[in-house]
Amino acid sequence: MGEIHRNVTLLSPEIGLVQAAAFGARKGKSRLSGWVEPFVSGNFYLYHNPVNNSYKITDIDSAVFREYLREDMYAQYLAAFWAEIIIQTYSGGGEYKGLYVLLEEALNVLGEIMDPEAVLKKGELKMPGRRPSAYENRDVPPYLLIQTIWRFLDVIGYLPDLDICSSCGRSLDYPGSIFLENDSLNFNCVNCCPRSTMELSQGARKYLKHTLSVLLMDAMSVKLVPAALASLRSLSIFLITQVVDKPLKTLQGGIL
Ligand SMILES: [Zn+2]
Repeated sequence: MGEIHRNVTLLSPEIGLVQAAAFGARKGKSRLSGWVEPFVSGNFYLYHNPVNNSYKITDIDSAVFREYLREDMYAQYLAAFWAEIIIQTYSGGGEYKGLYVLLEEALNVLGEIMDPEAVLKKGELKMPGRRPSAYENRDVPPYLLIQTIWRFLDVIGYLPDLDICSSCGRSLDYPGSIFLENDSLNFNCVNCCPRSTMELSQGARKYLKHTLSVLLMDAMSVKLVPAALASLRSLSIFLITQVVDKPLKTLQGGIL
């Protein structure tokens, strides 16, 4: 918004997505200068102007900065992807609190992966043992992408049933793949297998069943064989694209 001010989108656990003006945020002597940056979280104090129904930020405290996002393009894209799916679905149609908690958790886990020492020093996350950084272990980021897609679907009520065939009611816990129906975004057993070719291996189904029941950080240490990881990644991206129902800019750069 001009050269000095910023117009920002905030996600609040209480009131959802809010557009707010941050006067003087880009430079100058404003209190907000240097505070209003992408993916900063904290207490934002807003003034609501009832005449034109606009908000402005008057103060910020308890801010948490996420410096690691400047250092790694994958991390930047991943965080931008989370912001994009929240904004494009109007915060999941009203699930502000659940999405806020998920986004904070995801950013904290990403921070720990990118820079475990810094996070541990600040004492924001006390995890048992040190996790490998993304630089040491490049297979970590796809897991975070997959995990956050499925957790997002869960929060907004679009998580496909992983237990029961949506057509015949048979248990999906059998030896062999299960199949996604493209229109309803439900899984079918091999007998009801639709023309859709998207399939989920039994290993990937069990991976999802287990990891979605534990904390995000703990889920990151569970691994799939490379072929199962690659196909689960494709299926997850297909699912989120169908649910959001708009082209996602952050998925088009070939980074994620
Ligand atoms: Zn069936």
